[in-house]
Formats: sequence, structure tokens, C-alpha cells
Amino acid sequence: MKAPSHILQTIADGLDLIANRWTLSILQAAFQGCCRFDDFLSQTGISRATLSRRLEELTHHKILIKTPSDHPRRFLYVFSERGLELLNASLLARELEAAWSGQAPRPLKHTSCGHAFKAKLICQHCKEELHDKDITWQQLAHGRDELQELNQLQALSINGQGKRPRESAVFKNSTGDNKQSIVANIIGDRWCLLIIIANLLKVERFDDFLKLLNIAPSTLNARLKLFQEQGLMVKQQYQDNPPRFNYQLSKKGLMAGRFISELRQWILAGDEQGKAIGSQLIHKTCGASLQQQLVCGHCNETPQSEQLFSK
Ligand SMILES: [Zn+2]
Ligand SMILES: [Zn+2]
Repeated sequence: MKAPSHILQTIADGLDLIANRWTLSILQAAFQGCCRFDDFLSQTGISRATLSRRLEELTHHKILIKTPSDHPRRFLYVFSERGLELLNASLLARELEAAWSGQAPRPLKHTSCGHAFKAKLICQHCKEELHDKDITWQQLAHGRDELQELNQLQALSINGQGKRPRESAVFKNSTGDNKQSIVANIIGDRWCLLIIIANLLKVERFDDFLKLLNIAPSTLNARLKLFQEQGLMVKQQYQDNPPRFNYQLSKKGLMAGRFISELRQWILAGDEQGKAIGSQLIHKTCGASLQQQLVCGHCNETPQSEQLFSK
């Protein structure tokens, strides 16, 4: 089933709201227990003005709720029910961070089974564990529908106009230090995110990225170089004269797909029409439209936020 343009716009808006480096950092901090402005400030290293703006935005979209604290002029920011549903995305971001940075995160304990928590993704339909290679991104099951994908990607890049990060913004935050995670820096960079999505949709050639994303060659080059440096993409020559290359996410890079599809699932679940349409991704192994489910690798139960504690 094709997604109407309303849905594509909803996905683009949702990604715009969540998948930026500031909001990703704020949400990670909130899941680690931050709820005061000053705690967010020290935990994320985001500038005061940006933090304030992003918290207002999350409050406006009812992901966080701003409530009075015991101090007359200070507020607490706590998750709404809808915000709490970002837990799975947050756990996947944590896993992605570990894989991409090579540093193990602080272990979490799943209190309901008593074991160390390790996230496992299963297909809600067949209950089998999901592997990144077994997910078919939109439309590919019945041939490429470039027009639809083009629309979707362009909606996202059009949304981002005016807010596009400067070239130098990759891997730096507004204060110039590097407190933020590699995931926030890469998924939170609009161009990096678009390139990853395009690649998941099997756009692999330099010229196709240019055409589809409406991106400047130097910007594209810089991002592709970054992906290779981080071991997230591999470059392969497919033509000798003149030399032409294609780019593919590595095994490590492909892991971004689980996070992005989780976010997409969360966005669609918040929209009546989106709910009816489903994810439009397909689990190759069973052929069902993909609804991914995150469970504890030990007990196979879906964890609740109050059952997860840092050890
Ligand atoms: Zn399945
Ligand atoms: Zn468990």
C-alpha cells in the first residue's frame, strides 16, 4: 500500500522533531533520570538557549510535561505517556552508541527478571529475532518506486531548510566541545540521516544521492568520508573509466536501521492514518509488514522504564 503524502509529511515532521542532535541528547538524559533544566544543561553540554528552545518544543508536542517543582521558579520536565513510548528508541540508541563508539555503556539491570538487560528485537508477527539484513525498506519488495521515496526524502530535506547544520557542525556542538554522543552527532545531522535512509532504500551511487537528496557535492563528499572514517560505510568501485563508486552501509552502519525504523514506528503510532498503514517495512523472513518489538534478551518480556536500572 502506498503512503499518502500526509503520512510522508508526518514521518518527515516526526524525524525533524526527534532526530536532531539536541533532542536526541535531551531524551537520552531524560531516560537517565534528568528532569531539571540545570541537570540537562550539565549532562548534555547544550547551550542554555538551545536547551530551553528544545525543551519547549518537546513540551509543546506533549512528549515532556512541564510541572512545577518545590522551587518557585524552577520546573521539572517529565515524560508523558507518549514520551515514555520512546523508551525503545532510546534503548536502541544506547546500543547503537556502544557499537559505534566501541565503548560499552553502563550496564542496565532488568529488575523483573533480575538479569543484565540486553535489548533484543523481534518481529511481532513471527516472533523471530530481527536481523538488520532481513528488513526490507519500503516498496523494495515489489520493485522500486523512486517517486514515492523521492517525495519522502525531499519532504525531510525541505523541512530542514534554514535549519541545516553548517559543514563544521558535524561532530561539534554549539559550545565547541564534544560531550555529545556519536549517535546524536550522526543521526542528529540532517544530511547524515538522509544519506542513511537513502542507502537503506538502496540508493548507493554518488550521483543518485546528489539527484535524490538535492545535496551539494561537497556536503555529500564530507558526509561519505565521515561514514567511511567511522567504519559505517564501505566504498566500492563499480566502473573503471571514469572511476565510479557506490557506497553501502557496513554491518555496523546498518544497525542505524533498527533505530530509524523504531522511530518511524513511534511516529506512525501517534497518527490515526499512520496506525492504519503500518510501517511499510517488510520482514523478509516471514513476509509480514514489519512491527518490531523490543524485548529483554533474557526473559523475552518488553521492559518498562521503571524496570531498568543502572547497575
Ligand atoms: Zn517476521
Ligand atoms: Zn528480563
